[in-house]
Amino acid sequence: MKIYNTLTKRKEEFVPLQEGKVKMYVCGPTVYNLIHIGNARPMIVFDTARRYMEHKGYEVNFVSNFTDVDDKIIKKAMEEGVDASVISERYIAECKKDMQVMNVKPATTHPKATEEIDGMLDMINTLIEKGYAYTAEDGTVYYRTRSFKGYGKLSHKNLDDLQGGNRSLLVTGEDQKEDPLDFVLWKPKKEGEPYWESPWCKGRPGWHIECSVMSKKYLGDEIDIHAGGEDLIFPHHENEIAQSEAANGKVFAKYWMHNGFLTIDSQKMSKSLNNFFTVREIAEKYDLQVLRFFMLSAHYRSPLNFSEDLMEASKNGLDRILTAIERLGELEAKKGENAQTGEGTMKNEEAQAIKALQELTAKFEAAMEDDFNTADAVAALFEMVKLANISAKEESSALFVHTLKEEICRLCDVMG
Ligand code: AMP
Ligand code: ZN
Repeated sequence: MKIYNTLTKRKEEFVPLQEGKVKMYVCGPTVYNLIHIGNARPMIVFDTARRYMEHKGYEVNFVSNFTDVDDKIIKKAMEEGVDASVISERYIAECKKDMQVMNVKPATTHPKATEEIDGMLDMINTLIEKGYAYTAEDGTVYYRTRSFKGYGKLSHKNLDDLQGGNRSLLVTGEDQKEDPLDFVLWKPKKEGEPYWESPWCKGRPGWHIECSVMSKKYLGDEIDIHAGGEDLIFPHHENEIAQSEAANGKVFAKYWMHNGFLTIDSQKMSKSLNNFFTVREIAEKYDLQVLRFFMLSAHYRSPLNFSEDLMEASKNGLDRILTAIERLGELEAKKGENAQTGEGTMKNEEAQAIKALQELTAKFEAAMEDDFNTADAVAALFEMVKLANISAKEESSALFVHTLKEEICRLCDVMG
């Protein structure tokens, strides 16, 4: 199985740290609102990657967090006059409902940042002790970016270029930093904000340290795959690497996977641009299986432009597969018990068709082996459906109908 690794910018053969096991961390949403379909893209595509690896026999430990402390959550809580936890708990529950309807499997663990503060204090402490972090006068703890030799290796950025681009930060009140490139690990609370005690000040963690700590706690110092949307490459994932590798002294993640953007009129769908549809809005018009099918109709690294036309095409495509399965089910029912148990014998031309079916399974698997090319995998499924529509008839043997149906369903399950 080959995976495109953002770190090396190449497709690489996947070799797990431990045979038969995969440790995978996917950055989850910040929970201050209903999720939009852009947020749904990483959920769906990495769930499909997980399902495929499970289909291959890997035991996948899949961790995906909820960022439940953040400026936007606090702002919303203030607007509603409630505690920040009321907002985050509400939208975690809503997000889980959406995930369920999109048939995204629950993660092995869904940690919440606010429940992992002790681990963050520990890691920040280690970074200070090792000289990778320092405390400013007001109690803010910063990461000393230039002290980490590998900084920039994921985003393929050069520190001096970054320095130029970041110069403006000096005039935004961050002049207590030793260097404009330094980023926050812990920050002092402001009036009315949630906070935790720490050796440096009453405050809260920076966003990046949260994922380093949750990944370490639930998966260990070294993991196989770390994933998220491509907007997370820099600075979020770059900073996670700097924190984790400096604190733990180990390579953090072997493979870095990033999904492309879901766009609308070729612009990234996002809350801030106000060009989004929530998953709920889409659910009013479509079965969310259609949304999932739409997401998988493109390669996960390509941009995918959302449009009514493409959703309609996805609806039709999915219907074609479901109708074929339904018809096979009806034929099977007519054949009684033999078909349900898959007993009996096949005719010669049926055995030929099954051979063609097996070749299509191989095509499906080859596509998924090639960096989870779901677009090609779906194309193989369509060919199977065509084969089933042509070759399964009233007079077909029970075993033949059963085999066709089981195989198509098995691969549909891999796609969720
Ligand atoms: P956020 O809540 O903004 O941290 O986003 C949660 C996840 O959704 C991250 O992995 C983002 O990269 C991803 N994401 C946000 N917007 C989009 C989009 N328009 N297309 C694809 N992924 C996105
Ligand atoms: Zn993260």
